[in-house]
Formats: sequence, C-alpha cells, structure tokens
Amino acid sequence: MASGNVHTLITIVLTPLTTGAIWLFTNGDMATAAFVGAGCLSGIFISPDLDMEERTISESLLFRVSSLLGTLWMALWYPYAWLAKHRGVSHIPVLGTLTRLLYIGAIYLGIHFLLWYFFDLDMLSWLAARWQQGLFFATGLAVSDVGHWVLDGFRVHH
Ligand SMILES: [Zn+2]
Repeated sequence: MASGNVHTLITIVLTPLTTGAIWLFTNGDMATAAFVGAGCLSGIFISPDLDMEERTISESLLFRVSSLLGTLWMALWYPYAWLAKHRGVSHIPVLGTLTRLLYIGAIYLGIHFLLWYFFDLDMLSWLAARWQQGLFFATGLAVSDVGHWVLDGFRVHH
C-alpha cells in the first residue's frame, strides 16, 4: 500500500503525461487535452481514499489552505466514506471513479433543485450543454484513479 504522498506525486506525474498524450492523440486539440488534464489533476482531491473516514493526505492539504475548506470537504465526503469500505468498490478502476462522480452528481442535483425552486436557476441545462467537457474531465480522473490502484498493488480488498 502506498502512502498518500506517493499517491499525490503519481497524480502530479500522470497529469502532464496524460495531457500530452491526449494532445497528440487529438492532433493538437488543446481544449480537450486541458479538460482531461484537469480531471487527472483533480484526482489529488477526488481520490479513491475518500473512502476513509479519517483525514487523508489530500484533506490535510486542504486544511493547510483553510480549516473551513478542509472541514467542508471532509463533511461533504463523510457519507461516502461511511458507505464505502476502504479499498472496496471505491478502488476498482473506472467503477470506483464512477461511484465518486455519481456521488458528486447527486449533490449537484440537490443544489440544482434548491436553486431552481427558489431562484429559477437551471444548473442542469448548464451542465447538459457541457457533457463532452464533463466526459473528458471524467476520463482524466479515471486515469489518476488507475495510477492510485496500481500503487496500492492492484488491491481491491483487504
Ligand atoms: Zn488507496
């Protein structure tokens, strides 16, 4: 099992590699490469280790920026940590990434309905118009999560 610092490092290494590969693969499409790269880099925070109820390295990073930000982030992911067993489905490549994206999606949907009900704001249409960028971002995040899984020694269960 790799430590949180090593996980953060591999994501930082994977980001320019993935961004460069997508840039080459798409014949120089900077926008697509940037969205995939951003998704990969976000893996530092939207990490498979969010399945742990205790404070992770990435959460400690946020606490260093601001304790309010760290507390909010931990509170946001607490139900996920409570639901997911450490190194269970959360660590399965692609599937684990999907569980976190669905979790974020459920929160997004909740906020959408509140804003729609009270202020007539439609966050769902806004997101639907950007589904391609969302897909690129998700792909990058999945790459970061595969890197995490490899460093954990391909382990899914204890
Ligand atoms: Zn892990």
